[in-house]
Amino acid sequence: MTTVLSALARNSVSQLTPYQSARRLGGSGDVWLNANESPIANPYQLTEHSLNRYPECQPATLINRYAAYAGVDTAQVLVSRGADEAIELLIRAYCEPGQDSILYCPPTYGMYAVSAETYGVNCRTFQLTADWQIDIPAIEKQLADVKLVYLCSPNNPTGNLLNPQDIRYLLELTAGRALVIADEAYIEFCPEASLVAWLEAFPHLVVLRTLSKAFALAGLRCGFALAHPEVITTLLKVIAPYPLSTPVADIASQALTDSAISRMRQQVAELNQIRDQLTEQLRRFPCVVRVDDSQTNYLLVQFSGCETVFQTLWQQGIILRDQRKNPLLTDCLRISIGTAQESARLMAALGQFNANGEKR
Ligand SMILES: *Cc1c(COP(=O)(O)O)cnc(C)c1O
Repeated sequence: MTTVLSALARNSVSQLTPYQSARRLGGSGDVWLNANESPIANPYQLTEHSLNRYPECQPATLINRYAAYAGVDTAQVLVSRGADEAIELLIRAYCEPGQDSILYCPPTYGMYAVSAETYGVNCRTFQLTADWQIDIPAIEKQLADVKLVYLCSPNNPTGNLLNPQDIRYLLELTAGRALVIADEAYIEFCPEASLVAWLEAFPHLVVLRTLSKAFALAGLRCGFALAHPEVITTLLKVIAPYPLSTPVADIASQALTDSAISRMRQQVAELNQIRDQLTEQLRRFPCVVRVDDSQTNYLLVQFSGCETVFQTLWQQGIILRDQRKNPLLTDCLRISIGTAQESARLMAALGQFNANGEKR
């Protein structure tokens, strides 16, 4: 019977490979370094108790606080069920299925493709260059049917910033024809690189943000789109009537008070320090071929004997993110930055691995 029921699904859904989220991939570890989550669980308490009422679609306190934090007008902010929902709302609002395309540059975040495929929207992909930058010459003559350009900076999983002058050039090329989306999920780890100040000059720029990474609230599901008020109005046409539950809005608002923001910045500083130490240490290991500097809370690491490294750590309960299915990342694992203790566990496990003589 399952086959009959499956055949009822839309064609693009039947053919879809769902996003392989860290949670879906499983594992039974005690050191989780595979989803770029914060290792710190900050305490919160619910203050809104009137759960008999529907929530506001765009809770005013939350919108006001995020606008103040990001340095934009409240009319330029949309709050959504994670940045993932905003990625999808843009496709639903701006792309005609079977006709328009989105453009993105692999290796990058997997949800752009999954959301587009779900809605029957074409994906145009242009691989990043060898130094993980946008391949402008390849892209510039291929923009005809492109409605949305998704750029992730800093990029997941490579950890680097895209050159701002390339993004500016793409914005000039697409003016009046397409939106350029800058996914800034990790921007708190390098806040000076944000493109928010460009919203003024480029009304077709959209900046995506989240509370899932630096704000340590992946379990809350809360993200934001920052854009021209006309874009926000268009997105509000297709969003669910009640995208955020009352407890989500409550806790998200608490995460954006001045004191919570300074706590976040403190935690980011600590994670950045752990990351830089780990980068140095990893570079000394014989099994490590390459670690690039990262502007984020994760490292992309090329190993010799990648499969063995991944499995050995997995069996010891240290769960990393396997990147090997990606053609450009055949020997790479992505390692989220955990606590100093988790970092030490990782180094000890890798040290053992090297001592066991499996150097190459
Ligand atoms: C984690 C992540 C997201 C998703 O954020 P949520 O708010 O948890 O949906 C979006 N973009 C990138 C690049 C990410 O790494």
